[in-house]
Amino acid sequence: MSEEWKDQITNQINSLEKLEEIINLTESEREAIKTLDTHWGTTPYFASLMDKDDPECPIRKQVVPSLQESHNKYGMKDYLVWKENRATEEVRPDSIARQYKDRVAFTVFQECGIYCRHCFRKELVVSHDLKLDFNVDDGIEWIRQHPEVRDVLITGGDPLLLSDEKIEYIIESLRDIPHVEMIRIGSRLPIVLPHRITDNLKRILGGYHDVPIWLNTQCNHPKEITDKTKRAVYDLVSAGVNVGNQAVLLKGINDDVQTIRDLHQKLLTARIRPYYLFYCEPAPGIDHFRTPVEKGAELIRDGLRGHTTGLAQPMYVIATNVGKIPLMPDYYMVDKDEEKYVLRNHRGELTEIPNIPE
Ligand SMILES: *Cc1c(COP(=O)(O)O)cnc(C)c1O
Ligand code: SF4
Repeated sequence: MSEEWKDQITNQINSLEKLEEIINLTESEREAIKTLDTHWGTTPYFASLMDKDDPECPIRKQVVPSLQESHNKYGMKDYLVWKENRATEEVRPDSIARQYKDRVAFTVFQECGIYCRHCFRKELVVSHDLKLDFNVDDGIEWIRQHPEVRDVLITGGDPLLLSDEKIEYIIESLRDIPHVEMIRIGSRLPIVLPHRITDNLKRILGGYHDVPIWLNTQCNHPKEITDKTKRAVYDLVSAGVNVGNQAVLLKGINDDVQTIRDLHQKLLTARIRPYYLFYCEPAPGIDHFRTPVEKGAELIRDGLRGHTTGLAQPMYVIATNVGKIPLMPDYYMVDKDEEKYVLRNHRGELTEIPNIPE
């Protein structure tokens, strides 16, 4: 029996003709598709969320190539080799990226449900300039031989595009390694292809197990959350999989107080716990999505912290070659002396608590 999610992949919207059946393209969008040498595409489901006539639609901008992608002033060359510490002495299979002692990113697949225009892994998943070998068994063997690794983040591309059998094999193999305490999955599919959360996938990922699964998805705008998303997340959560979000701060898409607040509130209505808000990384060809670094901290200060539910707060970070570095707002501690701390809240009101010596 063919499954709906597989049809969504077979019927991907990845040609000018198919896209023009869904939205009215501008001249410049059409030119970008015709002239840029780039891999692009989306599931029909996610495409249906695009505004037909508005080129500024936040979903459309993540899907449709732009001529601005050819202007690259700040993007770093060979970004992923730098970012994922691929040029180090330590011998590791291509599938293992390492920045920390106790956890690694395990890249198992390079296709995606949509090819996000802002992707920092563009060289790998969009342009295919970086060619890696994703032999899963080599990665699993490397993890088995590194007892200090207690947390494995399965990533891609989108790992949930692999077949059920392959996913089950990876999860079971990792759960067989005594030092692996938890497994994480990075997947945009709950947002761009919620149909992927099938009964059989729930069986594979779910159920009680000593080695739990935490799934982080990527949702950047409230328009991306539908009843289908909510159902897919409910299915994951009720099966025992924890679901979080890693949003990317994107100029013209979510870099204003109202959108960032609506996004994080709406995530909670879909049972998704905000985890990170990422500064848009200095990868090539995505200059036009990047804000000043301070922007994310300002949005949290002016829109989230204190202004809404505490659970709606992501941590704002920049992902670098030496790990993720927090860039959170810094306004709380106004003053400190031997007797007291002076603290400020989100309304600008001051309060004091005693300074207790060690
Ligand atoms: C993001 C990332 C992790 C996980 O980082 P957390 O802050 O624990 O979520 C681990 N390894 C690599 C290489 C990463 O890029
Ligand atoms: S889903 Fe992730 S890896 Fe794939 S294109 Fe989007 S940002 Fe890149």
